[in-house]
Amino acid sequence: MLDNDFNDIIKQKFSGEVFDTVSRVADEMNLECYAIGGYVRDIFLHRPSKDIDIVTVGKGIELAEAIKKALGKKAKLSVFKNFGTAQIKYKDTEIEFVGARKESYERNSRKPIVEDGTLEDDQNRRDFTINALAICLNRDRFGELLDPFGGLRDMENLIIRTPLDPDITFSDDPLRMLRAIRFSSQLGFDIEPDTFDAITRNKDRIEIISKERVIDELNKIILSPKPSVGLLQLDQTGLLSIIFPELVALKGAETKEGVGHKDNFYHTLVVLDNISKKTSNLWLRWAAILHDIAKPATKRWDKKLGWTFHNHNFIGGKMIPGIFRRLKLPLNEKMKYVQRMVTLHMRPQVLVDEDISDSAVRRLLFEAGDEVDDLMTLCEADITSKNPDKVRRYLRNFEIVRQKLKDIEEKDHVRNFQPPIMGQEIMEIFGLAPSAEVGRLKSSIKDAILDGVIPNEYDAAYKYLIEKAKKIGLTPVNNLNNK
Ligand code: ATP
Repeated sequence: MLDNDFNDIIKQKFSGEVFDTVSRVADEMNLECYAIGGYVRDIFLHRPSKDIDIVTVGKGIELAEAIKKALGKKAKLSVFKNFGTAQIKYKDTEIEFVGARKESYERNSRKPIVEDGTLEDDQNRRDFTINALAICLNRDRFGELLDPFGGLRDMENLIIRTPLDPDITFSDDPLRMLRAIRFSSQLGFDIEPDTFDAITRNKDRIEIISKERVIDELNKIILSPKPSVGLLQLDQTGLLSIIFPELVALKGAETKEGVGHKDNFYHTLVVLDNISKKTSNLWLRWAAILHDIAKPATKRWDKKLGWTFHNHNFIGGKMIPGIFRRLKLPLNEKMKYVQRMVTLHMRPQVLVDEDISDSAVRRLLFEAGDEVDDLMTLCEADITSKNPDKVRRYLRNFEIVRQKLKDIEEKDHVRNFQPPIMGQEIMEIFGLAPSAEVGRLKSSIKDAILDGVIPNEYDAAYKYLIEKAKKIGLTPVNNLNNK
């Protein structure tokens, strides 16, 4: 970057009331004061800057208190005495203050013993050279860049590297191994070979990191522009086998009697990259990762059919709560959504058939509801053939399916439909207690509507119900059909 550009950008990024105040107050208190870490890195990477970290040599909390006073009532100060940090929120700016520190680690914890230190000590404890850059905010050295480890050069060469011996950096805090891979995947940087080898050597240390922190980084990798970059590195370093063995189990392409099947690990990564071009919905990306997760469990060799993976969609759907629980992913609607996507991912394929009945289309609309578009996106991403003619043909088929879904929805409105007669009403009509019988009658109405036997209307459903019930010896005790 040219010096002039650099000076202009620094001026622009550190101008305004907040930085003027920081600079003035730090000078008055005779404290060295620097912007450091991600905020400085993102200036050079032209990424939108987020929270600002400010480090001062000594008295981080006192500096924050004095700045809050100078900024007045509109500034909100929070002090975290235990961590020796303070935060100021002012308008839409969030600034974190901390005194420069020196850290030393014990083997079984990533919580360091912390002492006051110099700026250099503070830069030494940073995870990567690109995250260790500091810019001085004191008036007489304003804008001076302190880059002891060549972070700027690494940014230009798109390199992730630890400032100190990578074996020590990763052993001290093993979360940094995931952060290295996450930054590589997010930014499209390479991990420098020594740093990469140290991750492989220290992979087992990941066990001391909480599941919550691991999943936080894994989700950031999954949300990166091309997630396979990070997932392949996780695999190559051996971290993936530790944190997500089910995905590694998809590896391998067996051949028998000259018949092979695709390697489902690499297939899954291509599906994930495909879907990531279409959506930044984390949960749809998770559905792509998990869509074939039950293939190893369902793989069979059949003399006539060759390799089969019968019901891998259903079994996969059933595996999801266990996987979500272990990875500490949420066990709520998000999980159920992923489960539905995995369970249904084979269904649109069936609808490609020209002679398919409207009823099959209605059933899929009913089961997928508002998520039917996401399901189609998943199916399209699932096309990973290397033959461009095949890809074009399959995509065209799915376009036809999308059209069928649209036409039937316009005609029958079944996308979010509720059967017009619910269980409670069935109990009242026949004087029944809650029972399996009530459930069966309710389903028979739903099926009759989806199969096109009756229209989606109350009167038709009521008549159908009475006839159906008669066959099993039930007669109404209340006539509720007065609507
Ligand atoms: P992002 O905002 O994308 O999550 P970041 O690096 O900008 O990433 P933080 O995770 O808040 O944001 O970290 C801020 C800075 O603190 C980093 O740039 C780095 O200098 C330092 N840092 C954060 N975590 C670690 C760690 N585990 N080990 C060493 N330094 C760290």
